[in-house]
Amino acid sequence: MKPPPFTYSVPTTVADAVALLVEHAEEEPRVLAGGQSLVPLMNFRLAQPGHLVDLRRVTGLDTLRLDGDHLVVGAMVRQATAERSPEVALAAPLLAEALGHVAHPPVRHSGTVVGSIAHADPAAELPAVALALDAEMTVVGPQGERRIPAGEFFLGPFTTALAPEEILTEVRLPRFPGGHAFVEFARTHGNFAVVGVAALVAVEDGRVSRAAVAASGVAPTPVRLAAAEEALVGMTGDDTAVEAAVDAATAGLDPAGDVHASAATRTDIARVCLREGIGRALRRAEDRR
Ligand code: FAD
Repeated sequence: MKPPPFTYSVPTTVADAVALLVEHAEEEPRVLAGGQSLVPLMNFRLAQPGHLVDLRRVTGLDTLRLDGDHLVVGAMVRQATAERSPEVALAAPLLAEALGHVAHPPVRHSGTVVGSIAHADPAAELPAVALALDAEMTVVGPQGERRIPAGEFFLGPFTTALAPEEILTEVRLPRFPGGHAFVEFARTHGNFAVVGVAALVAVEDGRVSRAAVAASGVAPTPVRLAAAEEALVGMTGDDTAVEAAVDAATAGLDPAGDVHASAATRTDIARVCLREGIGRALRRAEDRR
């Protein structure tokens, strides 16, 4: 399949990229990052933008840096770069672990971390990571810059709080001082997961002091599982506490069934991923002390 005709621009500044989105507004323009989701969608004619604004030459967007207790990932940081980065390993090991589950190495060499978050596929790993870490999205549009918390960013399948003329320039991930785990079930390695779980747990004086749990594949957007977090905090983190957290999380789930898994199977898979994810994060939190 070939995409429908479109025009294409390669700006070198964020301001020019925004101006191009405004100039071509009537052609339903799209930002092009790594192209690993957008180009297949165009080839299958599921997306038909009349103009593409390629970010590859925009200065400063390929930066990955530490800013105080945040890891800042620029819009053109490739997934493979982040996966191998010492800064990511240090400040956001949950992201590094999740990246190992995203597609295959050739896709990760082109695909960007931020592009995956902007794309907001409900089955994708990185939106769930952003949600678990309480990431902040830095967005630039015709009215200037604004920050959007991850909890307000994902609005529906492939739908975010980004306006059509806005660019997600960076994602800011706060450091989580504790253990982490990303666990998923996919039918074949590298395929989109049926369910994924991102878990973060901190332990102080033998008890869970903080927990953050998010899941993909169980709702139209990635979801924070607050009931699991509440069930964990204050507990010693033994098997009974983990099981109580799994019960609390899945009691509130109402996933849709599809060709990949029925609703009941999806819930069962979520239980397995939650048990493994929370358990692994707890063990790592205890090892850090
Ligand atoms: P693009 O494809 O360039 O863009 C995707 C969308 O986001 C477009 O609508 C674009 O306009 C928008 N966008 C991108 N960047 C910005 C920005 N900075 N500001 C505003 N809008 C922006 N993904 C997974 O999560 N898990 C998988 O297991 C997985 N498996 C895959 C397997 C294959 C074979 C392939 C081809 C892809 C797979 N993907 C998977 C998708 C892949 O990881 C993509 O890289 C990712 O979803 C999008 O990143 P990108 O940089 O390629 O974005």
